[in-house]
Amino acid sequence: MNEATREVQRSLAQQFHGDLLCPDDALYEAARSIWNGMVARRPGLIARCADVTDVQATVRACAGAEVLPAVRCGGHSLAGFSTCEGGVVIDLSKMREITVDRAARLARFAGGSLLRTVDVATQKEGLAFPAGVVSHTGASGLVLGGGFGWLTRLYGLSCDNVEGFTLVTADGSLVSANPRQNEDLFWALRGGGGNFGVVTEFEVSLHPVSSVQVGEGLCIGDDISELLRRWRDYMPESPDNLRWSLSLRVAPDAKNIPVKYRGRPAVTQAAVWIGDPEKGRLCLDHILSLCNPVGVTRRTMSFVELQTMADEEFPHGRRYYTKSGYFKSLSDHVLDVMVESLATVPSPTTQIELAYLGGAASRVAATQTAFGDRSSPYVLNLLGSWSEKSEDAANVCWVRNLFQSLRPSMTPGVYINFMSGDEDDRVREAYHERWERLIAIKSRYDPHNLFRLNQNIPPRNTELGASQVRGN
Ligand SMILES: Cc1cc2nc3c(=O)[nH]c(=O)nc-3n(C[C@H](O)[C@H](O)[C@H](O)COP(=O)(O)OP(=O)(O)OC[C@H]3O[C@@H](n4cnc5c(N)ncnc54)[C@H](O)[C@@H]3O)c2cc1C
Repeated sequence: MNEATREVQRSLAQQFHGDLLCPDDALYEAARSIWNGMVARRPGLIARCADVTDVQATVRACAGAEVLPAVRCGGHSLAGFSTCEGGVVIDLSKMREITVDRAARLARFAGGSLLRTVDVATQKEGLAFPAGVVSHTGASGLVLGGGFGWLTRLYGLSCDNVEGFTLVTADGSLVSANPRQNEDLFWALRGGGGNFGVVTEFEVSLHPVSSVQVGEGLCIGDDISELLRRWRDYMPESPDNLRWSLSLRVAPDAKNIPVKYRGRPAVTQAAVWIGDPEKGRLCLDHILSLCNPVGVTRRTMSFVELQTMADEEFPHGRRYYTKSGYFKSLSDHVLDVMVESLATVPSPTTQIELAYLGGAASRVAATQTAFGDRSSPYVLNLLGSWSEKSEDAANVCWVRNLFQSLRPSMTPGVYINFMSGDEDDRVREAYHERWERLIAIKSRYDPHNLFRLNQNIPPRNTELGASQVRGN
C-alpha cells in the first residue's frame, strides 16, 4: 500500500462502519477478485461500506489524499473498471437493502444490489423491474449504463424505469436527482454510467409480471444462415411481448443437445413471451418450427427462474473479452461473415450474441436520457470467453478481427456496458450529440475527474483532473 492509500485508511479507521481490507488481511484475496478473470489488479485498500456515511467518508478521503477510487456493485464490469492497482475500491456489496411498495409499483434498492436482490423482492409482490438476464450481475452498473433484458421490449430500458437516484458526489455531498431536483444530473445518470458519483439508492418503477413462456432450440449446418435471416426479417414486425435472441457458437455439451451435434458450429435461440398465454403459444410454435431446430424445449416458468436461467453459463473468474456494436439493418453479407467466423473460433464458450431491441425502448426520444442511440435495433455483442491465460492472445485476436470486419456495416454508437477496457476512443461515439451536455454536467459534479474508472466522460479541465488523482 502506498503512502496516499495508507492516509485514506488512517482517516477512515476511526469512523468506518463496514470493513477496511488491506493486502495482508485474510479476506483480501477473495475480495479483490472481480467477475472477469482477465483483470487481476491489487487495490491498496478495499473499503466495504456498510452505509451511506461510509461511502461519503471514503469519497472525501480519496479526494483529499488524491487517491483513485474504483466503484464496485456486482463487479461485472466487462472492462474491469471495478478494481484498480494500488488505489481504493469502494465496495458496496454490504449495501443491498430493498423495499417494495406494491400499491405504488415502486421499489427502492441500495447501490450494492444484485439483479437477484431486486428480482426476488419484487416478485414476492408479483412485480418485476426490467433489467439484465443474469442474476449475479450488479444492478447499479447495469442501470447506470442503460440496461436491457427480457422485459425491455415491453417496458423499456432499466434506466427508463428509474424515478430517482440518491448519490454521493465527488465532494462527499449526498444529492438527489429526479424529475424535480437536479434534472440535468437525473438525465445524465440514465445512461451516463458511473461518471457522476456513487449512487447509494435507486427508486424504480415496477410492472406486473408472473409466469413467462420460454422456448429454446438450436440449428446446425445450412439452417444456421437461414435462421439468422428469418430472425432478422421477423423481429421488426413482432409484438413487444416477444424477446427472441440468438447466439452463434459451438453447440454446447448440454443434456438437451443430441451428442452428434455437440461441438459443431450452431446457432442457439431463446425466445421469451410475456403476456397472453394463447398468443404466446402460437408465437413460440411458429418460431420453433423454423429451420429444423434440434434440442427444442418449451417451458412456462416463474420470472425468477427466467432470470437465473443463464447464470451458470457466465461464471465468475473465467477470462472474457468483448466488442459490441449496433446495426440499423443486417445484410446477408454481415450474417455470412458471422457464420463463417465460427470455423475459426478458438474457444467453445465464446458467443456471438444477437439481440433485437425496438419496442418500448425505441419509443423513448434520444434526447430524453443520456443513453445512446435507440434507433438501431440490432445489438451485437462478441463475447470471447475462455479459461487459460496462455490462450489470451488467440481469443482476443479472434474477437478483434471479427469486430474489424463487421465494423464498416455498424451504425456509429455503442452500448457502454458492453465495451472492453481498451476502447476509450469509442466513449464519445457512444454518446453522439449528447457528449457536450454530458461534459458540462461532469464538469459541475466531478470537476477533477475523481470518478474516472469508467467509460469516462472527461470534465472540461481534463488535464488538471488527470494529474490530481494518482493510480491507473
Ligand atoms: C454475466 C453478465 C451478464 C450481463 N448481462 C447484461 C444484460 O442482460 N443486460 C445489460 O444491459 N447488461 C448486461 N451486462 C453488462 C452489465 O450491464 C455491465 O457489466 C455492468 O457494468 C455490470 O454492473 P455491476 O454493478 O456488476 O458492475 P461493477 O463492475 O460493479 O461496476 C461497473 C462500473 O459501474 C459503475 N458503478 C457500479 N456501481 C455503481 C454505483 N453504485 N454508483 C456509481 N457507479 C457505479 C462504476 O463506474 C463501475 O466501474 C452483463 C454483464 C455480465 C458480466
